[in-house]
Amino acid sequence: MPTTTTAAVLRERGGPYRLETLELADPGPGQLRVKLAACGICFTDVGVQRYEQGTPLPQVLGHEGAGIVEAVGAGVTNVAPGDRVVLSYASCGACNNCGHDHPQYCSNFMMLNYAGVLSDGRAPFAQGDAAVYGGFFGQSSFATHAIAYARNTVKVEADVPFALLAPFGCGLQTGAGTAYNTLDVQAGHSFVVMGAGSVGLAAMLAAVDRGCHSIIAVDRVAARLDLARTLGATHTILADGQDVTAAIRAICATGIDRIVDTTGVSAVVRAGLEALASRGEMAMLAVTAPGTEISFNPNTLLGGRSLKGAVEGDADPQTFIPWLIGRHTAGRFNHAPLVTEYPLDAINEAVADMAAGRVVKPVLVMD
Ligand code: ZN
Repeated sequence: MPTTTTAAVLRERGGPYRLETLELADPGPGQLRVKLAACGICFTDVGVQRYEQGTPLPQVLGHEGAGIVEAVGAGVTNVAPGDRVVLSYASCGACNNCGHDHPQYCSNFMMLNYAGVLSDGRAPFAQGDAAVYGGFFGQSSFATHAIAYARNTVKVEADVPFALLAPFGCGLQTGAGTAYNTLDVQAGHSFVVMGAGSVGLAAMLAAVDRGCHSIIAVDRVAARLDLARTLGATHTILADGQDVTAAIRAICATGIDRIVDTTGVSAVVRAGLEALASRGEMAMLAVTAPGTEISFNPNTLLGGRSLKGAVEGDADPQTFIPWLIGRHTAGRFNHAPLVTEYPLDAINEAVADMAAGRVVKPVLVMD
């Protein structure tokens, strides 16, 4: 018997989401069904909503789901019905990078997260005889129910509200993981985040947790810098046309040890590189538009500096997400001020508020 779900369906590129009643396929081998309680919204969803990225329509997006397992298919042993779970990105478990504990660089990442169908080729949703695509990031969580895989379903033991759990699946993992894993920020480091949106602020919270001695947030929106200060930034810089490198060096004359760039903008990346201390490291995590190029003076790197890129915070969700939730429950990673809750039927308002900078991390709640 197919399960009925209420889902926010995107039917045309650039169009709005519309709540529709769909049938959800039964979970196959290695798959499970989750009754969703919350799902964060991220700029990756907005990118697919607005621009052609190879994702077929109509489709159900959403990739920061959290909820309760309802049913499991054959071979699923890590979770059982009734478990509280967070859903993250999908990976195959069989390729070279998955085998070496780097599922974020899975060879089958695009197929498993963007193709619009499940790994067994089925479209997860239907409306009468018409298929509706899904399987977005191994979940499609802008809905009341989702099909996920054992590998991207993370069991949660901690008593944390679902609206706070949902963003661990992608945005918090990406930002915090880039600071903890990719850059290994330490108490002796000075730290800068370029772009104080939800991912940048998650990176900054990791720097706060590790006790970095100077923590500088750079953004064009003054309200975000105010929020950054309440979360632990020691300094903020409003990027209003001023020389950002000079502003950073006025705070840390010898330069910065670790920088996370969330913008992917050439001038911003160059300003960051020029603000790095010798042997400093900068990591980029933004997905940029096709054709984007970044220019900088290569001599900048000769001081032992490095520029790296990372996906999903170099994190394996099965180990990193429980660990990061543990930092949260220990009072060391407080992302609650980033979150604004919306009902599922207010999804278009939530997206508009995020795009306009009125909220940092909208989270849909499915009561
Ligand atoms: Zn793989």
